[in-house]
Amino acid sequence: MTATVIDGGQFQYQVQFSARRRSVALQIKQGQLTVRAPVGISLEEVRNLVDLKQRWILKHLKQSIQLTKPDWLALGKLPMLGNQLSLDVRVGAKSAVALAQDTLLITVSSRCRTERRHSVMTKLIQQWYCAQALNWCCQRVRYWQEKMALQAGDIVIGNWKAKWGYCKHNTELGFNWRLLMAPQWVADYVIVHELAHLTYFNHSAPFWQLVEHHYPDARVAERYLKQNQHWMML
Ligand SMILES: [Zn+2]
Repeated sequence: MTATVIDGGQFQYQVQFSARRRSVALQIKQGQLTVRAPVGISLEEVRNLVDLKQRWILKHLKQSIQLTKPDWLALGKLPMLGNQLSLDVRVGAKSAVALAQDTLLITVSSRCRTERRHSVMTKLIQQWYCAQALNWCCQRVRYWQEKMALQAGDIVIGNWKAKWGYCKHNTELGFNWRLLMAPQWVADYVIVHELAHLTYFNHSAPFWQLVEHHYPDARVAERYLKQNQHWMML
């Protein structure tokens, strides 16, 4: 397989030739266009095809860029339950994280090598989010379990790619720290959802009735999570 990068004017793209291909395919991923073409097709033909499809490509590139995760550290801000925190990064004697009003002060140890700073910062921020998440989730579980007349067991905070929470048979509830990146009304929905599993250990109609009885906007919150989860990560 050979690859060539072409400047298409409004966007750059990569052309990959493969002997196994029979037709040309356009693929857009993370704001990047790749053209896969069979060996034997000329770059001129590829260019013509891309020109022909330009409107479609631009539309999908735009959508794809919108779905790409923002680089929070580079932006210098972090989402927090519907608010936005500013990041203030310094080098100091010891690595630490502290919140002062709406600013998260990150101190990276001066002994930390420059090339490792980004990953150390990410780790510090994630640890900070986890601690906040434990606090916030415990508080919200206490609030909702009283309203729902239920009793949860231990609360565990986790880091998962594909789930927001869980409920175990022993009444332990787990929540993803990334929920704190969502607005509060969305994070609250996940608390109600997991608590409702203490009554119904499935996603049956009675389960949804119970959730919606306590949280009428459950479906809206569910949709919000699906549509926004790509930016709720570090
Ligand atoms: Zn569920």
